[in-house]
Amino acid sequence: MIGNNKNFAVELTEKELERYDRQLMIKGWGVEGQKKLKRSRVVVVGAGGLGSPTAIYLAVAGVGELILVDNDIVELNNLNRQILHWDQDIGLPKVKSAKEKLEKLNPNVKVKIVQEELTKDNVINIIKGAHVVVDALDNFKTRYILNEACVKLDIPLVHAGVYGFTGQLTTIVPKKGPCLKCIFPKPPMEKEKFPVVGVTPGIIGSMEALEAIKLITGIGVPLVGRLLLFDGEDFTVEVVKIERDENCPVCGEE
Ligand SMILES: [Zn+2]
Repeated sequence: MIGNNKNFAVELTEKELERYDRQLMIKGWGVEGQKKLKRSRVVVVGAGGLGSPTAIYLAVAGVGELILVDNDIVELNNLNRQILHWDQDIGLPKVKSAKEKLEKLNPNVKVKIVQEELTKDNVINIIKGAHVVVDALDNFKTRYILNEACVKLDIPLVHAGVYGFTGQLTTIVPKKGPCLKCIFPKPPMEKEKFPVVGVTPGIIGSMEALEAIKLITGIGVPLVGRLLLFDGEDFTVEVVKIERDENCPVCGEE
C-alpha cells in the first residue's frame, strides 16, 4: 500500500512558502528542509492523548503524508487530553475525527487513516515506506510489535509514554542505538486505565513531533541512546544514557 517516496521531486507553492515562512528562517531548514518534510511520510500509531498533539504539529509543519492508525471510538472520558477530538465527535472513530481536523488545519497534508488495531499481521504493511514512525500508544504489547517491525524495516521510531504528570521520550534509530526491547526488556506494570492530565501528553506528544521533524530535516541531535524523563509535578527533566544490548532478541547481532 505504501511505496518508498524518498527521492521524488517536489516544489513549494507561493502559499506554502508563506505558510512556512517562520520555520524556513531556522538555520539549516530553508526550502530544502521544507521539501524534505513535504516528501516525508510519517506513521502515527495511536490517535489519542499523545497522537493528537503529535499529529497536529506534524500537520502544521508541513509533513507531506500522515498515516494515522487507531481502532478506537471517541468517548467522553477521552476529552480531557485527546485534543483532536471534540464533544461533537463522541461515537466517531478516532481516525475519522482526527483526519477531519488535520485537513482543516493544513489542506496541504495528505491524511490517510487505518482504522485497525496494530498487530503482528498488519504492522509491516502499515509502516513500510514510512520515513519515521511515532509510538503514540498506551501499552507495551503493541509497542513491542511496532519496535520489532521498525527494526526489521530499518525505520526510525519515536517512543513516548505518559502517566499522571510524568512522561518519557526516546528515539530509536535501528542499529545506531538501543531499541525499545534493549531499554525495556520486560513490559512495565500497566493498567488499562491510568491517571493522566491532558497537559502531560500535550508536552510529550509535542516533543515526539519535534523529534520526527529533526529526523526528517536532519537538524539537531535526536534522542538516540538517551531517555528523557519528564516530571511535571516538580518540573524536572532528566536525560539518561541508555545502552544497546548486544544480546537483544530484537536488534542484537545474530
Ligand atoms: Zn534491541
